[in-house]
Amino acid sequence: MKNKSNLGTSPSVPTYKKLEELLRKNILNLTPYSSARDEFTGDASVFLDANESPFNPPYNRYPDPLQRKLKEKISEIKHVRAENIFLGNGSDEAIDLVYRAFCEPRTDNVVAIEPTYGMYKVSAEINDIEYRKVLLDSNFQINVEELLKATDAHTKVIWICSPNNPTGNLINSNDLVEILERFHGIVVIDEAYIDFADQESFIYRLDKYPNLIILQTFSKAWGSAAIRLGMAFASIEIIQVFNKIKYPYNVNQLTQNKALEALENVDQVAKWVELILHEREQMFDQLSQLKMVRHIYPTDANFLLIQVENPNEVYKKLVEKGIIIRNRSTVSLCGGCLRITIGEQTENMALIEELKKIDK
Ligand SMILES: *Cc1c(COP(=O)(O)O)cnc(C)c1O
Repeated sequence: MKNKSNLGTSPSVPTYKKLEELLRKNILNLTPYSSARDEFTGDASVFLDANESPFNPPYNRYPDPLQRKLKEKISEIKHVRAENIFLGNGSDEAIDLVYRAFCEPRTDNVVAIEPTYGMYKVSAEINDIEYRKVLLDSNFQINVEELLKATDAHTKVIWICSPNNPTGNLINSNDLVEILERFHGIVVIDEAYIDFADQESFIYRLDKYPNLIILQTFSKAWGSAAIRLGMAFASIEIIQVFNKIKYPYNVNQLTQNKALEALENVDQVAKWVELILHEREQMFDQLSQLKMVRHIYPTDANFLLIQVENPNEVYKKLVEKGIIIRNRSTVSLCGGCLRITIGEQTENMALIEELKKIDK
């Protein structure tokens, strides 16, 4: 068995493929664009290097291409070194960069759990990469053997989302560890909802797993979906590749300023999370009293997945009342399911009131 002999005498220390083996050749050999702001980063008083306007400060100047100040702040809060952080225009940018860095169009493939967040597949299709789905079990957990069986020599990436969207649950961390130890390509764990979960992030295991990429975002618990700021945490080598292939000024100055503001208010974010978790419990109780609700899935995120008798009808009636939830009833393993984001109390109550009327 090839896998076994690769592991040698110490099965807990896996041998990963080297980054050079995983990267596309053109990316490995790429000379990146060097901007004026890349070439000079020290202190100066006269900047005549970037063809900017001298008028309309502070927005006349190009932003820091590597968002150093912002990364320093995130580094302090997340206890991860700044050089292990990539920032992008939402997590969506990092998802796209994973494909562009590692996956050769029409040759390589990726394996993902199903159901999960839709962008992994859309981005695969945009990049012309085969996307292999492996169904979760009835508890929305991973069958590790089946997942690994779906991989082959051309599998560059495994996509995992935990807590998963739209199912809401954390993936068993033992299974994540097993996948990290047995798959030798890139493993992405999307932790967009980790702030709502009662489990530690995998960012603290980055040093142990050089081929791990963690995604997090300002769009959920941080309450900043509008500023478009996503984070990827990975080895220095992987972060350097992302920096090489991203657009030079991928995170604009307005976003960087707003994010710095948000990072001064970590306590506020913690309070928001507590409020949402409290509301989530209320919603769980209220929903479980409705006749139409067959099942409410356990959740570790800021949304609830519920199974109802007539999802399309419920969805439509709510829309008529100006209440929008997500109809997930055509998603694999989610027959009859609606996904409800936890809002503020008045919004949640408005939803419950309408559902009670429909329930009669
Ligand atoms: C909402 C969400 C994101 C966030 O994407 P952004 O581009 O950062 O807004 C990422 N992953 C999952 C699974 C999500 O549900």
